[in-house]
Amino acid sequence: MNRLPASASRYIVGVYAAAVAAVVWFLLPHAPLADVEPEVLLLLAVFTLLGELRPINAPLGREGLELTTSNTFAFAILLAAGPALAALTLAASAMVADVVARKSWWKVLFNAAQYVLCIVAAGVTVDLLKGPVDESTTTMLSSNRALFAAIAAALVFFVTNVSITGVALALAQRLPLLSVFREDFAYQTIANTALLALAPVAVVVGNANVLLLPLLLVPLGVAYRSATVSLEKEHQARHDSLTGLPNRLLFRQRTDDAIQAASRQGTIAAIMLIDLDRFKEVNDTLGHHVGDRILQWVGPRLQEAVRPGDTVARLGGDEFGVVLPGLPNVQTAIDVAGRLHEALSQPIKIDGLSLSTTGSIGVSIYPEHGADVDTLMQRADVAMYVAKDTHQPSVTYHPSLDHNSPSRLALVGELQTALEAGQFVVHYQPKVSVETQAATGAEALIRWEHPRQGVVPPSDFIPIAEQTGLIHALTAFVIGQALGECKRWAANGHDISVAVNLSPRTLLDPEFPAFVAEQLEVTGVQPHRLVLEITETMIMADPERSRQGLVELRRLGVRLSVDDYGTGHSSLSYLKQLPINEMKIDKSFITNMTEDHSDAVITRSTVDLAHRLGLTVVAEGVETAETSRLLASIGCDEAQGYYFSRPVPAASFLAWLDRNSGRAWSLDDADAAFPAVIPVRSNT
Ligand code: C2E
Ligand code: CA
Ligand code: CA
Repeated sequence: MNRLPASASRYIVGVYAAAVAAVVWFLLPHAPLADVEPEVLLLLAVFTLLGELRPINAPLGREGLELTTSNTFAFAILLAAGPALAALTLAASAMVADVVARKSWWKVLFNAAQYVLCIVAAGVTVDLLKGPVDESTTTMLSSNRALFAAIAAALVFFVTNVSITGVALALAQRLPLLSVFREDFAYQTIANTALLALAPVAVVVGNANVLLLPLLLVPLGVAYRSATVSLEKEHQARHDSLTGLPNRLLFRQRTDDAIQAASRQGTIAAIMLIDLDRFKEVNDTLGHHVGDRILQWVGPRLQEAVRPGDTVARLGGDEFGVVLPGLPNVQTAIDVAGRLHEALSQPIKIDGLSLSTTGSIGVSIYPEHGADVDTLMQRADVAMYVAKDTHQPSVTYHPSLDHNSPSRLALVGELQTALEAGQFVVHYQPKVSVETQAATGAEALIRWEHPRQGVVPPSDFIPIAEQTGLIHALTAFVIGQALGECKRWAANGHDISVAVNLSPRTLLDPEFPAFVAEQLEVTGVQPHRLVLEITETMIMADPERSRQGLVELRRLGVRLSVDDYGTGHSSLSYLKQLPINEMKIDKSFITNMTEDHSDAVITRSTVDLAHRLGLTVVAEGVETAETSRLLASIGCDEAQGYYFSRPVPAASFLAWLDRNSGRAWSLDDADAAFPAVIPVRSNT
């Protein structure tokens, strides 16, 4: 039960409690509608048990709305001997059958409890409708009134049964209630009507001669058989015959359900397409039967890696699909993709042969990447092909992947080897004190020196690196380089800090803090000399996990900076609870602030606010002396931008430091030039 959503667990406990409470009702007197001999009752009870032991959809091994012939006989007992005996027989039979079928304890109890409640509902209906008891007519269900009560009770029994199980299924599988019923409601109604309609007949027939009762098993057997056949047909239309998994049709339906559930609950849903690598070769060299065995092996492996309500489908050939409804965030989807990939990579033993498969996984997310089944599947497909082409375990869709021009795809492929080939370099851009104009630190900015395409800017490859997981290696590389340089600057008399940009995935990586600690240890750089820049949007994407990540990093003694401040929609009241030291006002507010009055006002109030929160404020994108002066008049602490220096290679940066140490930038006219460009807010 612990893998179920909390709402489902609560519901199940509620059903248990209601069934226990119902016992009180059974103690009240309930006159039966008919009167039968004890041996008839005994036979009805035996048939109830047999019916439970052979549920109609058992041959399909499917869990869901189960249909059993036991209902016919239990309902007959209700009519003939009242609710207490009926409930006892049905609940006990269900428990025996479920224990035999090795269902988990909570399912055993749930089925028994829901049967008790069905009998209560039907029994209450009988009590209400049967009218004054008249011995001469009721005993054989011969009055119309009694028959009417019996039929109404059958209807109530059915509706209660389907509702209680339907709600449990919907909650457990995180599906809308309607979609649970959509799959086989019509069939359930017809089959249940047929089964329950036989109950009064069983009572009357049994009373005439108990030996007639087994004869009833003949029509029941026919009904049973035809129900099973139609269920099998239904099942075949939506399932793959080789693996028994849902097929493309059902996969699309489940995707649609997941979209609707997510839009109602304000959660997200993930679609994953998985293609086995080199499956064709295995099939061709080892034969189809080995190929089939692999495909049959894959389904259960994937199912073990996801939650009970998630769907694993075979879409055809060696392509599988997974739908994950009701996820809290994108990172969870990425984590699951990792688990699925791992599950696939386990070795398989077939005919004494140890084989290994791998798969490429493409992920798309509702609502981020599309609002309908077709779009989401198409985008997951794009991501899957990128994963395959670039030998990544999984790739999450990103619009940049759509421009799958050959050169772009090639770039994705080359990214992997570029690191080993030493094509990445780190450039440094100074941060200076606005007051003294002396360098206080530098930001490390990565560049890809591509052998043919020249310098590729980070905006062209960082998103891809983030999608493919290579970002961890890139960040590790930049941190290593940056700390090395920081040490060199100190050796040359420049005691300044170095800042490194983090990606969302890095911040959420549980192993990252230990890596940083190790790098600090190896290089001997003091922790407070390292600044980690995290963008505002990144924190707000998953505030709780981000906070944990930040707290752990802060514990190491490194400084934390909120980058691109002002571009996200974070509430300052939230940011101030985070262990941050610095705020970098985004360059979009700074670059034109000498012309744009509102930019200047925003910057001033942001500086005021940040100071009140005890944060250092850095302005980025400073391109002119005027901007620098204006920032000084506002009280901003540090500045960064082309005016001081563009990002430059490590050697040039050290030369810049040497040249600029002790040099004061001319600030003489700052106050004269900008006396009161912006209103000075005294106290708010
Ligand atoms: P960012 O962190 O906001 O970095 C500042 C960007 O502004 C840099 O672009 C820098 O060259 C540019 N810039 C600096 N001064 C000025 C100026 O006065 N005017 C204007 N218009 N721009 C200026 P760059 O180097 O192209 O980096 C772009 C983004 O790529 C960075 O934005 C950062 O988000 C990301 N990035 C760069 N290196 C790394 C890295 O090592 N790891 C990660 N995760 N992201 C990185
Ligand atoms: Ca930055
Ligand atoms: Ca920035």
